[in-house]
Amino acid sequence: MESLSLTLGIWRAMRRQVVRLAPLEACGLLAGMNGRVELRIGVRNADQSPARFHMEPLEQWRAFQRIESAGLELLGIYHSHPRGPDRPSPTDIAEAMYPVVQIIWYRQDGKWRARGYRIEAGRVGEVALELVGNE
Ligand SMILES: [Zn+2]
Repeated sequence: MESLSLTLGIWRAMRRQVVRLAPLEACGLLAGMNGRVELRIGVRNADQSPARFHMEPLEQWRAFQRIESAGLELLGIYHSHPRGPDRPSPTDIAEAMYPVVQIIWYRQDGKWRARGYRIEAGRVGEVALELVGNE
């Protein structure tokens, strides 16, 4: 299975954002090199909805600029499903625009968890999320 490596620090920062914004969907970008995430950028959900997200366009553009100027590449897009499920929705599948790992945060037994997916031409495959190092 394909995998994406994340530090515990980035993992926790994503989770903090997801927890803080629930019950609305939270979203953001992950960038790095060689399948290893080095930068997380939270982006405002322009929809402010518990059931869908669209990244606020100007913030998303700024995030892409930041990634590019850091010499990194976009590796992942994350968003939360405060009301589930643990996998991409039909809308997520239809609207997947970038060939990167899609991370879905969801709640199970009162705990937030995340799973990774790759969506290509309407097909969904799971990507292993690997926690590495400390920060
Ligand atoms: Zn979704």
